[in-house]
Amino acid sequence: MTHGPRIITVANQKGGVGKTTTAINLATALAAIGEKVLIVDIDPQGNASTGLGIDRQQRAVSSYDVLTGVRSVADAAMPTAVPGLSIVPSTLDLLGIEMEIAAAPDRVLKLRNALRELPGELFTYVLIDCPPSLNLLTLNSMAAADSVLVPLQCEFFALEGLSQLLETVEQVRGSINPALTIQGIVLTMFDGRNNLANQVVDDVRRHMGEKVYETIIPRNVRVSEAPSYGRPAILYDLKCAGSQAYLQLASEVIRRERRLRAA
Ligand code: ADP
Ligand code: MG
Repeated sequence: MTHGPRIITVANQKGGVGKTTTAINLATALAAIGEKVLIVDIDPQGNASTGLGIDRQQRAVSSYDVLTGVRSVADAAMPTAVPGLSIVPSTLDLLGIEMEIAAAPDRVLKLRNALRELPGELFTYVLIDCPPSLNLLTLNSMAAADSVLVPLQCEFFALEGLSQLLETVEQVRGSINPALTIQGIVLTMFDGRNNLANQVVDDVRRHMGEKVYETIIPRNVRVSEAPSYGRPAILYDLKCAGSQAYLQLASEVIRRERRLRAA
């Protein structure tokens, strides 16, 4: 029997919390240990595509074509400079997709149906980089995914909005994707010199318990510089604290995936 890839969507309706950074670096870390990884960029901003060095001119086939059923995922996937990591890039065309597919009965299932056609052996992990919204694109990702990975920025309002996100996951579970689980919540951009940040970590752990990964991603200049070179932080500076944290996160994610798969 062939198994399809494990599909993880990186979601949070807040912008700037580390979704794209997490998708890129987690994907790179997984690829580095031999997994065959695909990022599907469904944010019209296309930051994951840019951060992996895919210029706009190179995005002839994109996630828009996949969602509208014009191209298969396998067709749209392009290799990146990272061995073992491919990406379905996004373009600004995605901005109009809600309206275009709104009337389709399967509008929430577009991505799921497309990913189901992927030949089983092509990829072992698919990571979906979501837009900062709980819109139809994010719903498509939740309908398609095995699990949701939620980046939370270590700031005062970290927990605000989380309940709405978790409610959306519940709704998707209750309707189109009963098997959907929370992979985990990752605290990002942690600054240990900031007392508030420590308080936020305690708060989030108290409320969310085991869902929160042990790994905390520190705020790290190297991590924020890397995208402008079109490279994951892990390639740009493997030794920096941010890269090391993402490697550690990858091992936690794998451990949890094994548990989820066995369950
Ligand atoms: P999102 O995809 O949720 O909008 P991003 O991953 O694009 O968030 O991150 C928002 C900004 O914060 C980007 O400029 C990114 O480079 C920066 N950033 C993300 N994670 C870190 C980190 N650990 N340290 C420093 N800067 C970070
Ligand atoms: Mg993003």
